[in-house]
Amino acid sequence: MVGRMIRSRGRERRLPIASHPSVLDEALRARTAPAELFEETEKGLRCTACAHACVFARGSQRTGACGVRFQQDGELRVPFGYVARTYVRPVETNTIYHVAPGTLSLTFGMYGCDLRCPYCHNARLSQALREGTSQEFPEDIGEDALVERALAAGCRVLCAAYNEPAIAAEWVRTVFERAKERGLLTAMITDGNATPEVLRFLRPVTDVYRVDLKGHSEEEYHALGGRLQPVLSGIRMAKDLGYWVEVVTLVVPAFNDDLRGLRSLATTLASIDPSIPWHLNAFQPRYRMRDRPATSAGALISAAGVAYAKGLRFVYVGNVDGTTSELSNTRCPSCHDVLIARRDWRAIEIATDPSRCSRCGAVIPGLWFASVTEPPRNPGELT
Ligand code: SF4
Repeated sequence: MVGRMIRSRGRERRLPIASHPSVLDEALRARTAPAELFEETEKGLRCTACAHACVFARGSQRTGACGVRFQQDGELRVPFGYVARTYVRPVETNTIYHVAPGTLSLTFGMYGCDLRCPYCHNARLSQALREGTSQEFPEDIGEDALVERALAAGCRVLCAAYNEPAIAAEWVRTVFERAKERGLLTAMITDGNATPEVLRFLRPVTDVYRVDLKGHSEEEYHALGGRLQPVLSGIRMAKDLGYWVEVVTLVVPAFNDDLRGLRSLATTLASIDPSIPWHLNAFQPRYRMRDRPATSAGALISAAGVAYAKGLRFVYVGNVDGTTSELSNTRCPSCHDVLIARRDWRAIEIATDPSRCSRCGAVIPGLWFASVTEPPRNPGELT
């Protein structure tokens, strides 16, 4: 159920967001399809799209915690056939560094989220239903038109991002199916509150699992409305299923910037696969978290040092001023030669074949050219 948690008579309960559905809520309820990700239980339908595992009691008109999947006339209805935004930008702006560098991606987002991070970059979309905004309205679009938009803009990658794509997994899969038929790489930019069901459901048409790892403890995740364990299990399973995985941690002062916690995350990631790229990005005050400064470059550099010490081979620092731009380059983990140089979320120099270090021959993992008909062009040629 959507709403704000309150404590009343010693117990926590959730307030509904409004007694009257907003214009946006009504518009989204008119743009749905039957769910595929659910199972029947004794208590009613259980949604399997995210780890909240909401149960919809028989006969109820309940809405899930994400605000966009709901039961109606005994059927679970899910978002379908619209976007909230699309942007064409360098693929690196999605914090994906080992996938078709220097190419463009079309990234689309929708509305709603299964988490409620107080520092969300995209709260206008992800929290639109909780905040009751009147400024938003979906754009109707079919999967063919969305893929055509990406191709017409010269994109090589199609990304589902901005809000949590798993809560609209049926729509994402439909779009990605069409994208794969047209030769695009596909990427899910997710908060990682995943289930085995949604990871298996999307894998046949999804190449990249770019996941946020927002903290090292259940306590930190509780503050965001989620749990750590499904995120870690999801990363492990995504690797096993063959997704290309990159992990992002937004390092937030006085929330998750403790070096012991970051060391613990690095240890866990290295135990899954030391070649998983780990992006340590700076927090900027925004949305409901404006009570603390931006993350310093020094804090990120210390965290990167900890990550390398724990065995991770590709660690990146982002979202801080140019003094750390060297730390957004891809280097050979053996001889440290630069294979891809980046600045301001763009690749500015790319080795002819980034899959292998031309100096020492080390293999550099990634989806460098997969599924595209020719190697990516240099960014300067993409206009
Ligand atoms: S996707 Fe939505 S309805 Fe489904 S379990 Fe998650 S929060 Fe609940």
